[in-house]
Amino acid sequence: MKRVRLAFTPTPIVHAAALDALVGAKVFVKRDDMTGGAEAGNKIRKLEYLVAEAQAQGANVLLTCGAVQSNHARATAIVAARLGLRAILFLRTDLGPTSVETPAPKAALPTAGNALLDRLVGAEIRLVSPADYATRDIFLGAAAERLRGQGERPYVIPEGGSNGLGALGYVQCAREVRAQVDLGLVDGAKGRPFAFDEVAVACGSGGTVAGLALGAPIARLAPRVRSVSVCDDAGYFRGVVERIVRQARGYDAALVEEAEVCFDDAALGPRYGAMNQEQRAFLVKVARETGLLLDPVYSGKALHAVHLAARRGELDAESRVLFIHTGGLPGLLAEGDAFAGEL
Ligand SMILES: *Cc1c(COP(=O)(O)O)cnc(C)c1O
Repeated sequence: MKRVRLAFTPTPIVHAAALDALVGAKVFVKRDDMTGGAEAGNKIRKLEYLVAEAQAQGANVLLTCGAVQSNHARATAIVAARLGLRAILFLRTDLGPTSVETPAPKAALPTAGNALLDRLVGAEIRLVSPADYATRDIFLGAAAERLRGQGERPYVIPEGGSNGLGALGYVQCAREVRAQVDLGLVDGAKGRPFAFDEVAVACGSGGTVAGLALGAPIARLAPRVRSVSVCDDAGYFRGVVERIVRQARGYDAALVEEAEVCFDDAALGPRYGAMNQEQRAFLVKVARETGLLLDPVYSGKALHAVHLAARRGELDAESRVLFIHTGGLPGLLAEGDAFAGEL
């Protein structure tokens, strides 16, 4: 499939004894928080395929959606600015006035974190209530139809960039890790049937897990992918990932096998975007003892879930985990108040 090069790759894979000790397993961190500058994170790998299709169709405006502090919406907005495209972001909020039809009034928009970056690069933002957001595929389609009527050429990217085409970004990431292993860049991986015992990653819209589940067998990374839910639950994500896997196979006949996916709900915490006390303390301890910064919405919960799996005995000190650090730093910077008690 066609791909626009947007990410700075290969991203490093780092291993530190101090982190192993905190987690309770050997943790190899794939630094996908370093796929770029302000646009960095996992979304940029999916956008390489999605934006290639948009460009092939001659699109001049990208439409997408997410939470008000969405990393995906921010990555899309920055990429759009880089390529000279317009971006319209539909962002979910339960505060203030909302409308899927009109740009949000400036005074209603945040000035921190991802939303600040969206606004700096000139994305148009529409605020959407949680009830309307449930119909996102419908209002995105309707907005695209209206733009077409005005002579524009819109391209709709689903939430999180998570469809079969976007998931190819993480099949590609799996191949990238295999090349790093073959170059001898991962301690103790050479000569094993699988370089790792599992791949672990946060799951918010399913595309990253779907891509890794398809890429792991091809690249002989691991027999299992731990999919750490940060919202919804295992039953919901089983269906979502299955659908994306099916779509992705339509693009690449080589995607025959699929790793076992372990849908792990142990790190949900109080709700999407919020951590419990133990999760916050873990994030701060990791930062202070290893210098690795995780975000509270995704990567912090995901690494905590790996730690909980080790505590339950599903992993031990010799288990080899490829942890995908998916980024999210701007979200952390917008949530400073939640950490005031830990500082
Ligand atoms: C979107 C996101 C995820 C989840 O990836 P999905 O493909 O949406 O499941 C994980 N971490 C970060 C930082 C993200 O922004």
